[in-house]
Amino acid sequence: MNVLRILFGLLAIGAGSTTLALLCLAYARLPRVLAVPVATAVGSGATWALASGVAAFVGPGPVALVAVVQLAGAGTFVAAVVWLTLLVTYRSYLLSRSLVLLCSAPPAATALLLAVPATRWLVLEADGSRAVWGPVLWTHAIASSMVMVAVVVTLLSVAASTVPGQRPLVLRALALMAPAAVSWTFFLACGRPQALATLTAALLGLALGTWPVVTLRRPGLVQLPITVSRLLAEVEDGVVVLDESGRILVSNAAARAMLSPTMSTWTTFADARLGSVPEPGTARQVRTATGRVVELLADRLDQPGRAPTVVVAARDITELATVREHLQDVASRDAMTGVRNRRYLESRLPALVEQARGRFPLSVVMLDVDRFKHVNDAHGHAVGDRVIVGIAEEANACLPAGAELVRMGGDEFAAVLPGMDLDAARRAAARTAARCAQLQFATRAASLSVTVSVGVHQLEPWMSAEELLSAADEALYAVKHARREAVPHPSPPPPTSAPSPVVPPDPMSRRGPGRHR
Ligand code: GH3
Ligand code: MG
Repeated sequence: MNVLRILFGLLAIGAGSTTLALLCLAYARLPRVLAVPVATAVGSGATWALASGVAAFVGPGPVALVAVVQLAGAGTFVAAVVWLTLLVTYRSYLLSRSLVLLCSAPPAATALLLAVPATRWLVLEADGSRAVWGPVLWTHAIASSMVMVAVVVTLLSVAASTVPGQRPLVLRALALMAPAAVSWTFFLACGRPQALATLTAALLGLALGTWPVVTLRRPGLVQLPITVSRLLAEVEDGVVVLDESGRILVSNAAARAMLSPTMSTWTTFADARLGSVPEPGTARQVRTATGRVVELLADRLDQPGRAPTVVVAARDITELATVREHLQDVASRDAMTGVRNRRYLESRLPALVEQARGRFPLSVVMLDVDRFKHVNDAHGHAVGDRVIVGIAEEANACLPAGAELVRMGGDEFAAVLPGMDLDAARRAAARTAARCAQLQFATRAASLSVTVSVGVHQLEPWMSAEELLSAADEALYAVKHARREAVPHPSPPPPTSAPSPVVPPDPMSRRGPGRHR
């Protein structure tokens, strides 16, 4: 037994000092998050091993003091391993508890120091090869055993649940712990503390000694695995998992910040604007109480043997929605006049027509500047542009509230008048035409005025949006035609003269009836 003790003692001293040396070499290269816990675990384990090794050589006198160092080292080691395990598994919410464990080691060691004079608390009887343990040693042994079991169970559960790439790290940690754990079990079972405690310390020292080596040679192995909860906490998008009744099973911080900080079921969200539980396979946008625009994408998550759940991904798209609205607005407007454009009318009119059909009257006014080509020819396009802008502004101001003015192209405008029958629309159109005719546009020569022709048509039950537009267009064409018939066409003016109110018609400039078809 003495030979064994000396052998294990030498082994423990060798393992402890080698481990300390490796730790010194590797410390600077340890990953930042792991550096302190790894150093604490490795350092305390090495201290334990060294103290255990020394204990094998000293006599019964100083053995109590060495045992204190051994116990303090072993206690700190066990606590540090728990800390490290928790850190590696990235269960950050448990970190504070492991720190408490770690912090408990120094006071425990101090208490033990104070108890040293009463050596019987530590070892009741010692006859060289066999000792009867005192209450302190038993408490330490039981606590350490429980912590070791907890570490092994934690590592096993981590190995089962961690991402595949990180599994070797956990399994390696388990494998390194195994010999020491076996030795510890024998040590407890056969009650020969000196020899087997030394062996346990030596084995742990060896296991720990490989940590810095592993860290140095395979840095990838100590990367932190990302657990699902950690991943959910990190992502910027909100994630909510609901059961079929709308009860919230899981929600991450982003979802709570975005949607509601106090949510237990979807329907009891503080913000009623979120609406009912999202249907799987659907997407919708909601505006929250804070004015943010959130896109909700819902999907069903079915797992065999488990109740189906709905996963809702929530993304704050406020900035995107603002840009989108702006782009849609820009795309639906005429750049020169700022009024809506033809594309807008063509996409919007069908809905307006369906809303009105059978419920209220709806009319369309077409408005076109007379002889506008002449304005361009005589005064230039800049003046022509000002005329178009002026007519748009005037028509916008004249038309009743609720009317939508659209520039169809060139000098032609359309106005949709919901709620107006033919007579009311005709009156509004005549008023607008009269006001436009009063406008004066400055030119180099003299001020210029123009006339506009208007054609009006009311929605009839059989009409589509397209047919309504064509009918209003035909009405305009008829008015233009009648005017041309009534007013004799003067000959074109010389380019430098003041504009005349009428110029010969240009057959190419009108597209004739039914041009919207
Ligand atoms: P009508 O009485 O039959 O309407 O005759 P008109 O000369 O007004 O003929 P029409 O309405 O077809 O002519 C439209 C002209 O408007 C043709 C085109 O050169 C001109 N035009 C189209 N867009 C613009 C523009 O943005 N600015 C200017 N200055 N002219 C434009
Ligand atoms: Mg015209």
